[in-house]
Order: sequence, then structure tokens, then C-alpha cells
Amino acid sequence: MVMLSFEDARAKVIDMISSRAASDARSRVATVDIARDPASALGRILAEDVTADRNYPPFDRSIRDGYAVRAADAKDPGARLLLIGESRAGVAFDGVVSAGQCVRILTGAAVPRGANSVIMLEHTRVEGDAVVLSQGVRPGQHYVLAGAECRIGETVLTQGARLSFTEIAMAAEVGHAQLRVARRPRVAIVSTGDELVAVDQTPGPYQIRNSNSASLAAQVSLAGGEPLIEPSARDDVDDLRARIERGLDESDMLLLSGGVSVGRYDLVETVLRDMGAEFFFDAVAVRPGKPVVFGWCRGKPVFGLPGNPVSTMVTFELFAVPAIELLSGFRPQPLPFIVAKLAHPIFEKGDVAHFLPARVKWPATQAGADGTLAVVPVVEALFWEGSGDIGAVVRGNCFLLVQQSHQQLEAGEWVDVLLRRGVF
Ligand code: AMP
Ligand code: MG
Repeated sequence: MVMLSFEDARAKVIDMISSRAASDARSRVATVDIARDPASALGRILAEDVTADRNYPPFDRSIRDGYAVRAADAKDPGARLLLIGESRAGVAFDGVVSAGQCVRILTGAAVPRGANSVIMLEHTRVEGDAVVLSQGVRPGQHYVLAGAECRIGETVLTQGARLSFTEIAMAAEVGHAQLRVARRPRVAIVSTGDELVAVDQTPGPYQIRNSNSASLAAQVSLAGGEPLIEPSARDDVDDLRARIERGLDESDMLLLSGGVSVGRYDLVETVLRDMGAEFFFDAVAVRPGKPVVFGWCRGKPVFGLPGNPVSTMVTFELFAVPAIELLSGFRPQPLPFIVAKLAHPIFEKGDVAHFLPARVKWPATQAGADGTLAVVPVVEALFWEGSGDIGAVVRGNCFLLVQQSHQQLEAGEWVDVLLRRGVF
């Protein structure tokens, strides 16, 4: 099978899932209740449009504490207005402001009829029953017109949106308590390897804890899926097959970690092939993560991610995230790249694109002789011991991309940086 570039491999995943599984995904919906448990909506994909139940703001709303005035009476400093009442949040003044009058107003209160401006409390003083202005006002100051934020019936959230605290606030504001959201795809996670013990066990001298099932569960959840951690599989054809069968039975998609290189105990591809799997790629020109496998088995997508912890993380981000987004009924989002200035030269070798653990910062530097500041992202690759080095990615906050076609980079060059989801 030919080795694909990471861009082509990602496009292949998107193509295959779009054509084979995404339409079923769109029809599977669930409901979240943001009146009872708003946090349960976090990260979910909206399966309907949400419209405004009334104009927002519902009335001309003051955004300051002060006085509601007629601008024509209050053009100049020193104007003196008769105070005739108060409008506060929740309780409006029900009269009319006539010439020479004003009404005390508080933030969130309705601007009374007759008034067309608000002067801030700080620019006034009270003298007996009058308010004296220390500044002139213009019409329309310090309030938001009814319906200016949105009109009744207007779409305020669109199907396919991912719900963050901002969207949850909008649904709450318009009283749309029962939100229809895409059902989260169930993603089974099977780590493989005779050396693995569970996280809460004490490893023997040559054993290690299974950290990949933990990181993958977190990544699945961040991507919008529901992780199902299966017991890990031994490097044994029968055990592996039993775990794979069970994982596929229980889920919409299967993630395997480990066992995809060329070693004699790397049995994942063999077992999948015996089960009749179809493969779309089994190597990608990317490091870490070159031996990553993507195929289809028993009607479901399957990823075989390399077992080195950083390889597992990177290949999940590059290839499995769009799969989960599509299985959630969501359009796959582009990879979260930004450009940054490289802090030091880099030389990487090999016929692959590299994703190096790195740290991006935003220092403010002096830009012009006038002392203006510019903030330019600067990225530094971190020393690492290779793709088993979890500490290196913990110290980092991103991955620096060194493209295969451009492996010798100078300090000060603009480079692509893949931000780490969940951090930014
Ligand atoms: P493999 O891809 O199976 O050849 O494994 C590559 C490296 O990753 C080996 O050093 C494994 O011990 C390590 N590894 C494999 N699976 C896991 C896992 N689930 N958690 C942590 N390390 C792992
Ligand atoms: Mg292994």
C-alpha cells in the first residue's frame, strides 16, 4: 500500500466516513436539558436551529447607572433637570419624561418613554429635586435599542454548532431548555501489549502502565465522542481477536493502540485482515506515528494507532478527530494551526512530516521607534527522547510542523504550529 501524506490520509478518513457512516450519524439525536443540567450540553453538537423567542433586548435597555434624559434638554454641561422617578432592572418607570425632566435609571432597566439618552451617574450631581449635568449628552447614549441584539424569530444558534458556554448562554437567554443534540458516537479503546498493566496496578520490572487508554479516552471525550475503555489485549492472535470483536460490537468506531509496526508481536493488522477488514492506509509519512492504520471492519471504522504514547496522541489528533466529528453529525473542523516565528534553527531528516513537541508563547516586543508594542507568537521545539516521552508534550503546548519538503528551518522563519486542543 502506498504511504500517504498526513493531509491525504486525513482526507481519506473524511471521505470514507462521510460516504459510509455520516448520514446515519445525523439521524441519531439526544436531548440535553439546560434548565436542569446545563453543563451536560458542553461540547455537544446542536442538531437543530434555535430561534429567538422575543426581541433582545426586549426593551430599550440601559447599560449604565445614571439618568434617562431627553438629549435636546441636555446638550450642554450645566443643564438642570427635574428628577421625576426611577427605572430599575425588573421595574420600569411607567410615566413619560417631558421637557426639562429626567428619571433615575439603573443598569438593565428600561429607558422610559420620552427619554432618548442616558447620562452616567459620574457626570451628574443632585441638587434638591434637580439633577445637574457636568457633561452634555448626545442622543442614543448608553442604552441598547430593543431588538438590536436579535429580533424575534431570528436564528441565534445553527444546527451543527458545537456548544460551549457561549452557546449555552444563548440557549438559556432565549428559553430553549430542551436542546436536541447529536448523539455522541461510542468509541471503543483497546490497548495492546503484553507489557501493559492497569493504571492502578504496580508494574513488574519490565512492565508499564497503560497510559494510552487514559489519554485516548480524554481525547475521544474532547472530540465529542463517548469513550469505552476495554480491557487491554495481549500480543496473542486469539486474545486480540476477542478484544477487537467485543470492541466493535459495543461501539460505533474502534481505536487500537500498539501492535501496528513491523515487529513479530505486531499482530493488529494480521488479526483485522483475518476478520475481513478493508484497509485504506497502513502507513503515513508522519513522525511520530508512521505505522498508523485506518480501515473498516464489520461495518465500522477502525484505527490502529502506534503504541508509543506521543505517536498515539498525534495520530489521534490528525486522523481520529475528524472521524469522531463526522460520526457526531458535525462537519470536520480544520486542524488548529497557527503560524509562529521559530526561535532557533531546526534540521529534521527523513521522508516524513514531523510534529515536534513545542511551546508557543506570545511575548510583547517593541515594534516601532514610538514604543508601540507588537505581540508575535514565537515557538520553540522542546528537547525530547522520542515518541515515548510524555514529559516533553506535558512541557509543551503545541506541535511544531516541519514539512517533508522543507526540513531545514532558520531562526525567525514563520512555521506552522498545531495548537493542542483542550489547552487553547
Ligand atoms: P508498539 O506500537 O506496540 O510497538 O509499542 C511501542 C511502544 O509504546 C512500546 O515501548 C510500548 O511499550 C509502548 N506502549 C504500547 N502501548 C502502550 C500503552 N497502552 N500505554 C503506554 N505505552 C504503550
Ligand atoms: Mg506492542
